[in-house]
Amino acid sequence: MKRILIALILGVMFIALNALLINFASTQALNGTDAADSAAIMLTPVMKPDAFMFPTPTPGGPPAAPGWQATSSYMIGKIVVSIVFPESNGGIDPSTENWSMERLTQAQSQVIAGINWWSERDPNAQLTFIFTSPLTVETSYEPIIHPVFPEENLWIGDVMQSLGYPPPSSDYGYAIAVRNYVNALREQYQADWGTVVFVVDDENDPDHAFADGLFGYAYFNGPYLVLTHNLNGWGTEHMDAIAAHELGHVFWAQDQYDFGNASQLCEDRSGYLFAENQNLNRADISCLINEPSIMRGDVDLAYATNSVDPYARMQVGWNDTDGDGILDPIDTTPMVTITNFPTMPVLSRVVVYTGVAQDISFPSNSPMILNATINNIATVQQRVDSGTWHTTFPSDGVFNSATEQFESRVLLPNGTYTIELRAVNSQNNISNIITTTVTVSSTAPLYTICLPLILRQNTN
Ligand SMILES: [Zn+2]
Repeated sequence: MKRILIALILGVMFIALNALLINFASTQALNGTDAADSAAIMLTPVMKPDAFMFPTPTPGGPPAAPGWQATSSYMIGKIVVSIVFPESNGGIDPSTENWSMERLTQAQSQVIAGINWWSERDPNAQLTFIFTSPLTVETSYEPIIHPVFPEENLWIGDVMQSLGYPPPSSDYGYAIAVRNYVNALREQYQADWGTVVFVVDDENDPDHAFADGLFGYAYFNGPYLVLTHNLNGWGTEHMDAIAAHELGHVFWAQDQYDFGNASQLCEDRSGYLFAENQNLNRADISCLINEPSIMRGDVDLAYATNSVDPYARMQVGWNDTDGDGILDPIDTTPMVTITNFPTMPVLSRVVVYTGVAQDISFPSNSPMILNATINNIATVQQRVDSGTWHTTFPSDGVFNSATEQFESRVLLPNGTYTIELRAVNSQNNISNIITTTVTVSSTAPLYTICLPLILRQNTN
């Protein structure tokens, strides 16, 4: 009941997710009705609500780089994926399922194919998926015999405990444990985002689904998605398409199939860009477009035809407003601030500036997603009298973070000079330029510097 209550509270707070969360609460009523409708299952295996969301806390203060709770804010960049196969050991539930190496290998290749499918959909997303070595992890439970809600915590928590990420004893502690694991992977593999794919053995289960009828589902914002191997009898060879669909959810794409709830609207919004769901396929409502998409019902066809509609693209962060080939969430601009000027006469004629360069996030339009940039400061440069740009010195030895401190040293003969400083980020976007005038004399303390700063936008 607590889950349903939280879901309803969130539904009030976040109108965009209202439909999904209400459906979440009514999942039980919708499931288990498809046994006599196998044709519908064959065509549209994910007609049930299959995307939910954990009520993760929103910490204060906008971080430059993605924070702990932001493990899948937009589908751009480097993404680490851990495929986990729970294996029951009979400790609590009788063990009725046992993975074979052959089926593990088959499932793994299907999941990898389905996730990699996204990387070909837009080269500007600069997607690289890193798959860690697949893990078979013991659990005392037999996952497939349990309903997802409210019992997924049993086996997921147990699996995370076995993996060395014990769930804290708080609400949704098992999901916190998974997100801790994802954050550790992100750190280890220097990835921008990450997620876990749990693949549950269902070979001997009569309906090849969890006890509440779910067989493939995911959470907006992750930190994981779940697939049963035989997908409610639909077949293991379709895992790739379902994995692709569910990964869309992890990165905030909404369902576009009609699961029979009138609160599903074309105007529902989701994702970092908070885009509408205007390819929603509802019989009684006309949305703006109507085309095949991995987020709609006919997932197999959409997968085979490489179809992602423009609204699902926008929901995962793929929009390029200015058409420069850099998608909006990573079309960021760095900013340079000088923290220390050469206020003392420098007899060696070395003029020293120190400062900070920071990449400024593209602002999130979503009330649920914090601003975050995955770009780094690639370099901070200085030049004298409009000459050649020279790289300054990063304080930590290398320019590779969203925020970098730097030191600029310029050796100058006597004279008066204009010195400019700028930063360039990993998308080759250039910061404001800081301009100062400095006069150097080596014979007397005649050194002066003319401030204040002149800030202007750089255009080259
Ligand atoms: Zn779905």
